[in-house]
Amino acid sequence: MTKDIENEIQSWISVRSFAVEDANPDKPIIDANEVSEFISAVFKKLEGCVVVPVESCKWTQDEDSNWWTQCGEGFVFNEDSHPHKHNFKNCCFCGGLLEAARGGNE
Ligand SMILES: [Zn+2]
Repeated sequence: MTKDIENEIQSWISVRSFAVEDANPDKPIIDANEVSEFISAVFKKLEGCVVVPVESCKWTQDEDSNWWTQCGEGFVFNEDSHPHKHNFKNCCFCGGLLEAARGGNE
C-alpha cells in the first residue's frame, strides 16, 4: 500500500519535472532526484506501519435485527444490539470506519 503511494508520488514528480532553463525564474526549483530520495526516505520510515482506511462502511439494521453492511455482508448479534454498544469502530469485513443506523434512519 505505502509502496503504491510512493510510486505514485515518484511518477508525479517524474512527469512534471522539467529542465531548469525552462523554469519560470520567479518560482523556486528543487531537484527532482533530491525530492525523490527524500520521499523514499520518508516511506522507509513508514514501513511496517498500519494503514487505516478512511472510507466508511454504513451498517443498517432490518426488522429482524440483522445488520447489513455497505460492503455487502451481514452480521447478527446474539441479542438485539447496536455495533457501537460493542465498541465496534471499524467494519470487521472491509475495515472501513463503521457508521451504524437502525433501519437506515438514525
Ligand atoms: Zn464494510
